[in-house]
Amino acid sequence: MKEDEFARLCREAGGKAYIVGGWVRDFLRGAVPKDKDYVVCGLSEETFHELFPSAERVGKSFPVYLVRIDGTKCEVAFARRERKAGNGYRGFDVISSPELTIEEDLYRRDTTMNAVAMELPSKEIIDPYKGREDIFAHIIRPVSEHFREDPVRALRAARQSAELSFDIATETFEAMRACGYELQFEPAERIFNEMVRALRTSRPSVFFRALRRADLLEKVFPELHALIGKTQPVEFHPEGDAFEHTMNIVDKVSAAVSSEIARFSGLVHDIGKGVTPEEMLPHHYGHEIKGGDILEKWNQRMTMPKTWYQSAAFVIREHMRAGRLEKPGKIVELLLGVDRIPIEPKEFKEIIRADHKTLPYYLEYIEEIIPILKSVSGKDAPVGFRGKKIGEWIFSEQIHRYMEWKSKI
Ligand code: ATP
Ligand code: MG
Repeated sequence: MKEDEFARLCREAGGKAYIVGGWVRDFLRGAVPKDKDYVVCGLSEETFHELFPSAERVGKSFPVYLVRIDGTKCEVAFARRERKAGNGYRGFDVISSPELTIEEDLYRRDTTMNAVAMELPSKEIIDPYKGREDIFAHIIRPVSEHFREDPVRALRAARQSAELSFDIATETFEAMRACGYELQFEPAERIFNEMVRALRTSRPSVFFRALRRADLLEKVFPELHALIGKTQPVEFHPEGDAFEHTMNIVDKVSAAVSSEIARFSGLVHDIGKGVTPEEMLPHHYGHEIKGGDILEKWNQRMTMPKTWYQSAAFVIREHMRAGRLEKPGKIVELLLGVDRIPIEPKEFKEIIRADHKTLPYYLEYIEEIIPILKSVSGKDAPVGFRGKKIGEWIFSEQIHRYMEWKSKI
């Protein structure tokens, strides 16, 4: 069904249809809009069923349907109002009725830029909370004092500020701060999910800095908060403490590679510095070991995909020595280790480049060397070699081929 037809059917039955939220925001700011969400007003569920018999109801406690419009399955929600009745994002009483207006529906939304609608088919913009003004001024502002009732709004504001390069208004920071208490009821997956989305942006640091400014970083990512004030030797780190360094690295890695796992690995490479005792500062001896324990605890609190955990654990453990190995055997071991983790060799290389600023030749050419090492096969081992002996032969052959490669560069 075409969108025009969808809107016409709603109108003919006495209702109204709108595109709402992010699509309209992106349309207004001249960006390529993504998925479309619709809201309908003035229709009962029975009428809606009659009009669109193949619509699939997905909302549990309020009417939300999936309808195929212009070839894509889109969410069509009935206008609704919310009233805070308990803790967490589920703690809302929801009222949905055909009498509710689009203005009332927009009132429950998080920020003014997301509380805009486009009436169909007229394409008239409905903007009761001055979202357009804020979109043009690049400002993220809450729709109402209800912002604080759902703490994920604070994470969304921080993430969308990174995504859109919009500023967060002072009043928004206050509202985000007020989300602190409710955050304890927030499922870890929702927090992790927002972080993943922040890691997809070109400057994830904006997300973490916004949370810090709203006094939420300690609650949401205590491992990163612990890096604040952890001094480092100025000759290596003119940028400041371990938190500033981490923000630098996550942005640099994000400029170089698109994988969220690699960006995350860059983000956490130094989390071990968060537990350095005061008397050791500005040095952080052993942080590559302590970091592994911190990651493990983080993973217990907020289960992350295995691929994320494995890559991050490897980067934490190896990032110090990766840039300064000399013995061929150690170099070969490192490169084979890189080959076993889920991130690409190039991604590992870019994390180390961001951290160390320069690269040893064995990392600069890592994509070339790994296939050479992997071309060694146990089948070519001398006749009669078995088990452990084959393994040793493979390793020595790999070192040999590595040396051969090195002699040619
Ligand atoms: P994106 O570009 O990432 O899709 P979006 O703002 O469209 O951003 P969605 O998750 O698609 O995000 O949500 C659609 C709309 O629903 C938002 O624009 C906003 O109006 C509303 N919304 C989403 N999450 C919340 C929330 N936690 N509280 C209030 N309103 C929300
Ligand atoms: Mg959207």
